[in-house]
Amino acid sequence: MASLFDVIIAGGGAAGLSLACHLINSLLRDCSILIVDKDDDDQINRNWGFWTNQPTLFDATVSRAWRQLHVVGEGFERTFDLEDYQYKLIRGPDFYRYALDTLRARSNVTFARGVVEKVEDVAGARNEARVVVNGQEHLGRWVFDSIMRAGALKRQSSPYRFLKMHFKGWEIETNDDVFNPNAATLFDFRTPAGCPSEVRAMRFFYVMPFMSRRALVEYVLFSPDVLRQDHYERALREHIEMMRGIRDYQIVFEENGCVPITDYPFVRRTGRRIMAIGAKGGQLKPSTGYSFMRVQQDSAAIVQSLLKRGHPFDVSYGASLFRLGDSVLLDIMLRRGDEIKPIFTAMFAKNPIQRIFRFLDETASPLDALGMIASLPPWQFVYSLGRVGAQAARTWTAQPHRMLAMLM
Ligand SMILES: Cc1cc2nc3c(=O)[nH]c(=O)nc-3n(C[C@H](O)[C@H](O)[C@H](O)COP(=O)(O)OP(=O)(O)OC[C@H]3O[C@@H](n4cnc5c(N)ncnc54)[C@H](O)[C@@H]3O)c2cc1C
Repeated sequence: MASLFDVIIAGGGAAGLSLACHLINSLLRDCSILIVDKDDDDQINRNWGFWTNQPTLFDATVSRAWRQLHVVGEGFERTFDLEDYQYKLIRGPDFYRYALDTLRARSNVTFARGVVEKVEDVAGARNEARVVVNGQEHLGRWVFDSIMRAGALKRQSSPYRFLKMHFKGWEIETNDDVFNPNAATLFDFRTPAGCPSEVRAMRFFYVMPFMSRRALVEYVLFSPDVLRQDHYERALREHIEMMRGIRDYQIVFEENGCVPITDYPFVRRTGRRIMAIGAKGGQLKPSTGYSFMRVQQDSAAIVQSLLKRGHPFDVSYGASLFRLGDSVLLDIMLRRGDEIKPIFTAMFAKNPIQRIFRFLDETASPLDALGMIASLPPWQFVYSLGRVGAQAARTWTAQPHRMLAMLM
């Protein structure tokens, strides 16, 4: 007979492990939890960077935090004091070690290795959902699913905008003191000449200096297609050697990534007792590609909803204004990604950085949001707003339920 758990988490990645940690850190700490993942990999080669002015459950794993951020735009360069915010960086292996050690210490948390083949409601049973792992059935009172099925997103998302955030990073060590370890560079829009497919993409460098002789330098692009490895490598070399004048360095770590970016309105409730979380639950901010802090806030909201409502679904879906903003920015990125440079330059030149964080975190007050919008060059937006509006009208006519989902 299948075992019954209070909670099953399909996918033990950033979102799955974060939710499990939030659960055992709450009044629900004794609920039985099954976490299923296909990999036995607790050494994920990934760094999570994020800004915050709140403590997180994972602060013990933060490897570096900066109180200053540097931005280089079009004819613009500034170092911002973050005041009550910090920009933090967590290394993947530290996150996994901490989360897995914390969870393995609990007798009510079980791990299963295997491929999740199905996540579905149980016909006739109102209080359970089923997860099939390597042919074996497990039952859960609630199932949280972070497994993105290949291809599903692209097929469904056709009326929406769909592109990729792709990047390559080198952590380098130098023989001289070349980095200011007090200020991380969030955006450096000085970009190399590049190949034709890169030139129109939104692209920038991101530099996290751990010490004066050690930093992670990353080349990031938002565009429909990934590039050949040698394009990223050439850009990184050009940035390090020509723009920063660093000749003598060794690469000590390499990070590659590709994250799907879309304004598709993800469905959170995918079954009577099933909820999508993480990237699958739309927790990746489309216009920035960041998700770590959203996942933390979402996990906390799910726990609160379970405690207060007896179900997990009472979580915020973000105001429509911010979703419209994401759609417009994605439209500009798809049409002319290089037009993002003056938009971001104006954003950083004319606003306090704390207001920008609140806007990107979708916690800005209407006054804050208006201030932000008024500071941006209008001409790039008008055309994209028209296109997004026209697409929304077509969707409204063809699929009113989708449009309602977008507005709610
Ligand atoms: C290289 C990289 C760097 C990033 N850097 C940042 C950053 O700096 N800041 C930030 O905020 N965001 C960043 N992101 C974006 C985001 O935080 C991550 O994508 C995050 O990992 C999303 O969490 P998730 O739980 O949804 O997905 P994942 O962490 O990918 O977890 C999904 C889990 O499901 C498992 N799985 C998949 N299919 C199956 C199956 N069929 N059966 C069983 N298990 C399965 C996988 O093994 C994985 O463990 C980055 C993403 C990448 C790829």
